[in-house]
Amino acid sequence: MFIDLDGFKEVNDAYGHAAGDRVLTTIADRLRTLLREGDLVGRVGGDEFVIVSTQISDAAAVAAVADRMVGAVAQPIDIGHASIDQTVSIGVATAETSVTAEALLARADFAMYEAKQAGRNRWAVYDDNTRQRVESNRQLIADLRSGLGTGQFEIWLQPELRLADDALVGFEALARWHHPTRGLVPAAEFIEAAESSGLIVELGNELVRTAFGQMALIVDAIGRGPRLRINLSRRQLLSDSILDLISDELDRSALAPEDLCCEITETALIDDPDGLVQRLERLRDLGVELAIDDFGTGYSSLTHLHVFPVGVLKIDRSFVAGLGTDHEATMIVRSVLGLAKSLDLEVVAEGVETEAQRQMLLDLGCDSAQGYLFAKPMPLAEALTYISSGVVQAS
Ligand code: C2E
Ligand code: CA
Ligand code: CA
Repeated sequence: MFIDLDGFKEVNDAYGHAAGDRVLTTIADRLRTLLREGDLVGRVGGDEFVIVSTQISDAAAVAAVADRMVGAVAQPIDIGHASIDQTVSIGVATAETSVTAEALLARADFAMYEAKQAGRNRWAVYDDNTRQRVESNRQLIADLRSGLGTGQFEIWLQPELRLADDALVGFEALARWHHPTRGLVPAAEFIEAAESSGLIVELGNELVRTAFGQMALIVDAIGRGPRLRINLSRRQLLSDSILDLISDELDRSALAPEDLCCEITETALIDDPDGLVQRLERLRDLGVELAIDDFGTGYSSLTHLHVFPVGVLKIDRSFVAGLGTDHEATMIVRSVLGLAKSLDLEVVAEGVETEAQRQMLLDLGCDSAQGYLFAKPMPLAEALTYISSGVVQAS
């Protein structure tokens, strides 16, 4: 088992090295209590431990031990004047007869990387494809890094229409990447890697500026009115630069603050919402609208809904897809709309692909929608053509 502390540098930076040492020895003690006779534990780097066990023979036992280790470390650590929540990511590799110690360690290290990628504070087991997945993920991140600032990233715009009369409400800005060898890559394939590597802050800022620039040209063409919806990831929202960036862009732009809506996914809001709520409130203070994206996929935030200063819910595509055919999905859409109505929130449906879905949403009282039925995301030039083809603006 290759064990790496999550974000340990921040502990040293925030509390000093004596506190860091205290955290390391506490974790070492906790790991040791979970060892069995004959197991070996060592510290192999600043914040890395390795455990070698010859006692475990099956996958279920490995899972149980790894679970216990992750859980034991995650207990708060008292450093006197503060309590620290330190977590670890663990990579597990099992030895067949032919593997060298070095190769085994490398495998556990690859698995650890995947545990980090999957969100830290967890363990992952090495399998036949782990190395390849990790290497292509690292390549993706390297390509992202070298693509920053070179014009490889673009914003495409997807129209959002009011269901009652098909009037244009605004555009959602969606990232696209002109990868030098892979061609056009949709956001779904690189935003997560940008987020996990931290590159999302720089990339996201670049994209936000681009989106504002494009909206300026749209406002030139048709005047103020259409809203700009941008996606912000958790790390972007927590970054130091985000509030200045958005208020600067608003100052320079033809858009009024209420024409801007920042979307944040429901899942990003679930963990530790406190710091995020503060950020969202500051954005709200700027006059910006806020939306919960992919609503319905996070389950827990129904109960927290009132603590987020949001005005818009975007119903996730997966529920819209099941409208009228899947009973559960239909019930969820229905109850989200009922909930939104009672909390006086606006609802946007995502991923509307059929006329039947459009009609049901309209009947259920949904305000607006986007999806392939109306238009796919498109580059700016096409969006300008789309507008000039006679789309009516929502009033
Ligand atoms: P999202 O915000 O939920 O965006 C909607 C996704 O659904 C987009 O995928 C869009 O192209 C796709 N879509 C729209 N209509 C339909 C439809 O009718 N059917 C189907 N099957 N798909 C539809 P895309 O562009 O790949 O974006 C994926 C996700 O990446 C977005 O999900 C958003 O969470 C994130 N993202 C996109 N651009 C940015 C960005 O600039 N910054 C950040 N932080 N995240 C972004
Ligand atoms: Ca979105
Ligand atoms: Ca969404």
